[in-house]
Amino acid sequence: MKILCAWCLKEGKPGHMGECEPLDDPSETHAICPVHRQQVEAELEALRMKTRDDLETLRKRQEEDLEDLRKKVDP
Ligand SMILES: [Zn+2]
Repeated sequence: MKILCAWCLKEGKPGHMGECEPLDDPSETHAICPVHRQQVEAELEALRMKTRDDLETLRKRQEEDLEDLRKKVDP
């Protein structure tokens, strides 16, 4: 089987990464090449950091709301 990088294919590159068993099967299997793996991992990390920031913002807002509520209940 041919191993092709799905990300390379999307960019119109050959994306050929070699072959794997069964070698007599001419069909294609998709994988990710080291270059694109790094790129995807960087994107995931950026997303992870953004999610963390969003959560932190949400948590702060919640605390402020709670504080406002406390002041209203017990001035
Ligand atoms: Zn690739």
